[in-house]
Amino acid sequence: MQTQQLDIENITVDTRLQTRNSLCAATIDEYAESFDALPPVRVMQCMVGDEALLYLIDGFHRIEAAKRLGRTTMHCYLFLGSYDDACWEAAAANREHGLRRTNADKQRALALALSVKQDASLREIADHCGVSHMMVKRWVDDHSSVDESDVAVEAVQETAQVADEDTVETRMQSASNRIEVVAEKITAAQLAVAQMENDPLCRFANQSGAANDLKNALSAVRFGLPHMVCPMCNGNGCDQCDLYGWLTKSRSTLLPKQFRTANRF
Ligand SMILES: [Zn+2]
Repeated sequence: MQTQQLDIENITVDTRLQTRNSLCAATIDEYAESFDALPPVRVMQCMVGDEALLYLIDGFHRIEAAKRLGRTTMHCYLFLGSYDDACWEAAAANREHGLRRTNADKQRALALALSVKQDASLREIADHCGVSHMMVKRWVDDHSSVDESDVAVEAVQETAQVADEDTVETRMQSASNRIEVVAEKITAAQLAVAQMENDPLCRFANQSGAANDLKNALSAVRFGLPHMVCPMCNGNGCDQCDLYGWLTKSRSTLLPKQFRTANRF
């Protein structure tokens, strides 16, 4: 596969796509020393509205090493896809190379993969993320009590205040925006928690516990994202969508099979 030289400043480093629980300073140092011998990073170009964004899906240590060296461009494998594709591909990062993954890293990869492929079998998720079948089963069992309906209800109550263009698409967009605002705050908290690592003042804080809870919070909040216009009522409201006109991804899995891919948001 051909690589491309991309401007580093155009590459979006989205921590939601980073399966490392935290970056390792020693690894960044090591990569900076042998930078030109490293494999290219992987980037996915996704259309977000009218804009083509370049998301880093593999190479979070390498891009930090490049920045440390003052590089302005770097070799990348470039893929095209949706943001969900980026999540799915990022979940497979570091499976076979790079710094050995911790259990927390593996769980982060699982959460990411499951957030976009709830229909996948446990085996498919395990193979894709390079973890054991048992680990996926435990993760799913531990997280199956997350109830996305409360989050969805709150989002709808927020969007109910948007009166002007009250189409199902604008309600979905408002719900999505609202959830992303919360997700960004959680992501900011994740960064703050990661920065506690080498801070002696925070030595007694349970950093990994906090990081884990925030990771779960992010996944719980994103469970409420609108996924598709309800194909049973075309957005007019029915029992299937609790009269909201749209479905979350997990709710859409309850649909009869022939409806599941219709009207993706
Ligand atoms: Zn409906």
